[in-house]
Amino acid sequence: MKLVIAQMKHETNTFSPVPTPLARFARGKNTPLEGAEIREAFRNTGSAIGAFIDLAERAGAEIVLPVAGNAAPSGPVETGAYEWMAGRILDAVRRGCDAVLLDLHGAMVTERHDDGEGELLARLRRLAPQLPVGVALDMHTNLFPAMCDNATVLAGYQTYPHIDMYETGLRAGKPILDLLAGRVRPAMACGHRPMLPHVMRQSSLDAPNLQIQQRAQEMEKQGALAATFFVGFPHADIEWAGASAVVVTDGDAAKARAFCDELLDMAWQARAQFVYRIEPLEASLERAGEIGGRARQAAGPVVLLDHYDNCASGGTMDTMTVLGAILDAGLENAAAFAICDPQAVRQMKDAGAGARVTLELGGRSDMPSLGLKGRPRRVTGTVRRIIDGAYRNEGPMARGEQMDMGLSAVLDTGKAEIAVITRHTEPYDIGAFRALGIDPARKKYLMLKSRVHWRAGLGPLARAVIECAGTGVCTSDYSQLDFRRVRRPIYPLDPL
Ligand SMILES: [Zn+2]
Repeated sequence: MKLVIAQMKHETNTFSPVPTPLARFARGKNTPLEGAEIREAFRNTGSAIGAFIDLAERAGAEIVLPVAGNAAPSGPVETGAYEWMAGRILDAVRRGCDAVLLDLHGAMVTERHDDGEGELLARLRRLAPQLPVGVALDMHTNLFPAMCDNATVLAGYQTYPHIDMYETGLRAGKPILDLLAGRVRPAMACGHRPMLPHVMRQSSLDAPNLQIQQRAQEMEKQGALAATFFVGFPHADIEWAGASAVVVTDGDAAKARAFCDELLDMAWQARAQFVYRIEPLEASLERAGEIGGRARQAAGPVVLLDHYDNCASGGTMDTMTVLGAILDAGLENAAAFAICDPQAVRQMKDAGAGARVTLELGGRSDMPSLGLKGRPRRVTGTVRRIIDGAYRNEGPMARGEQMDMGLSAVLDTGKAEIAVITRHTEPYDIGAFRALGIDPARKKYLMLKSRVHWRAGLGPLARAVIECAGTGVCTSDYSQLDFRRVRRPIYPLDPL
């Protein structure tokens, strides 16, 4: 038995000005991983591709690993990057195999294709019409019909923060191996509801997604091979953005359809709970100051969430609105992760650890989709530490994966320690802070450019969470976004 196993992951924010060349899919190199280095990178990690490799090894299969690329969310994927990766996967299949297992995101938009995954799967189907294809997907998949039409099994994460990537790989891969062994005949049903659940209301730790995901897991105990509800990724102005579901059963199409519709109905009935209410920034800072003022040192940090500029949703990670408000408010014993500003890092490196510097921080990126120019802020502080930015995730999310925030430094204003990094990295793992010598548990205030994933590694530390309305291309205010291509009507853009 010969299996082709590959990864090609990107969540595309069509409002983001951040480019997505091939190098963004690589880990410290110019091109994504290939061949043996993939096995090396993902062995014993909590990733879907790691699960595929384990499944295949256990089955004694010959494994072909043409490419593993995973880019931090950003604007549409450059055509050359997409064709480089898709081409390697297609070439590997062209040389012959019994099945293909793919670790995809599900919300990839390229310069040419609104549905990067559906395009890849359609090409695979044309090349090898009978080939079993299993796909692991992110919960933020925007499910296009071409993905359902051209895959044998689709399975998506059931947790947000995403801490079940490995299990999702098993759920997508095992039915394919069982199909090859003649043990099952996967039947799949897909569907949508016209709604854009708000990312700030999508966590599977809270209602209503908690209950929907629990029901999906229950369905897998009631005979479904894989049951998935996708919250969707709303910052993509494409036809099929939003909520969807897919259920795979063993040969029972009616049951797959009934389960799929049940998940979608649960989501639709809860649609008002998926709407986010915005608090003005001044009120947020005032609340943070009050809570922090009452806090004992050991109580853990008040987390100030800069959720409009989360690089893991395509944010430029360099807007200064929320950090600026924290500095203006004079909050003490604060830390911020992070401002992505390679130029400022270089200035700090040139000055050296211990040096006093004044620099223009952040605001490097213009945001044409919002009609905004980047606005840096002058900050004075001491350079505390300069590191190469490599660290390994401690978990529970993407456990064991090697990370790279690039050349990085800490700027200490006396009141706030500001992490300044070179490569977009969302703060969801304690390892990033350890690498920078910042202990978030000892901080009174912790500003994070994140929305939900921070809860994976840092949630237990938080004394309180204040969601701060800042500036950025993953704005939580839909009225700032010019939606033109998403299918209409769709809730809550339209009253349904
Ligand atoms: Zn996701």
